[in-house]
Amino acid sequence: MEKQTQLLGKRKNIALIAHDHMKDELLEWASFNRGNLSKHYIFATGTTGMLLETTLDLPVNKVRSGPLGGDMQIGAMISNGELDMLIFFWDPLEMQPHDPDIRALLRMAVVWNIPVATNRSSADFIFSSPLMNNEYERILPNYDQYRSKRFETFVPPAQE
Ligand code: PGA
Repeated sequence: MEKQTQLLGKRKNIALIAHDHMKDELLEWASFNRGNLSKHYIFATGTTGMLLETTLDLPVNKVRSGPLGGDMQIGAMISNGELDMLIFFWDPLEMQPHDPDIRALLRMAVVWNIPVATNRSSADFIFSSPLMNNEYERILPNYDQYRSKRFETFVPPAQE
């Protein structure tokens, strides 16, 4: 399949999510990185977003709480090209009622090739990259071509 590129601007749309047992860690990490975060636009699932807004005193665009569809909303935003990065401190030791949504969200991040951190050290590496405050062209398969190819597979043969 052909490739295409999509530009991540200097000011990025960053989604932040933390499961309940990881919220303290995300808040600590976000407080340490407040200066860097303030240069970008922050998005978050409901509860994580409220906690971040209070702790950082920065505006946060909040969607629904994760178990109520928030992770799926973030996933849909990634597929619409509205988010540039995902910082998701998920809990590796607890089952979640919305595990299928979490899996779908992580899948969207891979499909659309956005940077993802699922733990603190990955988030540190991403945030210390010079690309954080520069433009970056992410390379994607040409998904429009993918759709046309699939469509052709299903077009019924012309009637005589
Ligand atoms: P929350 O959702 O920010 O509303 O707690 C996070 C999640 O559990 O996915």
